[in-house]
Amino acid sequence: MSLAMNIVEMAVAAASREGAVKINEVELVVGELSGVLIDSLEFCLEAAARDTTAGTAVFKIIPVKGRGNCRNCDASFELDSLVSCCPHCGEYTVEVIGGKELNLQAITIDE
Ligand SMILES: [Zn+2]
Repeated sequence: MSLAMNIVEMAVAAASREGAVKINEVELVVGELSGVLIDSLEFCLEAAARDTTAGTAVFKIIPVKGRGNCRNCDASFELDSLVSCCPHCGEYTVEVIGGKELNLQAITIDE
C-alpha cells in the first residue's frame, strides 16, 4: 500500500511540475521478479489516487520478464524465479540482471 502511495505521489508531483490539472494515464513498468502482485498493485493505486489529480487516471502496468546472466558460462536467459540454476551449464551462478524494477515510465496529463 505504501508502495502504491509513493507511486501516486511521484506521478502527482511530476504532473504538478507540468502544471497539470488532471492525470489521464500513468504508465508503470513492473518486473515479474519484483515481488509485486500486479492485480493488488492496481487496486492499491486506484485507492491511493482517490482525491488527487490522479483520481480518474488509468494505471497501465507493463510487466517485464526476469532476466538472468550466468557468471560461469556467460549465458543470458529468461528467469521466472530469483533462485534458479543456469539452463545451459546447470550451475547456481546466476545473477539477476532484470525483472526487479518498478518504475514510473510515463504520465499523460490534461493541462
Ligand atoms: Zn551457465
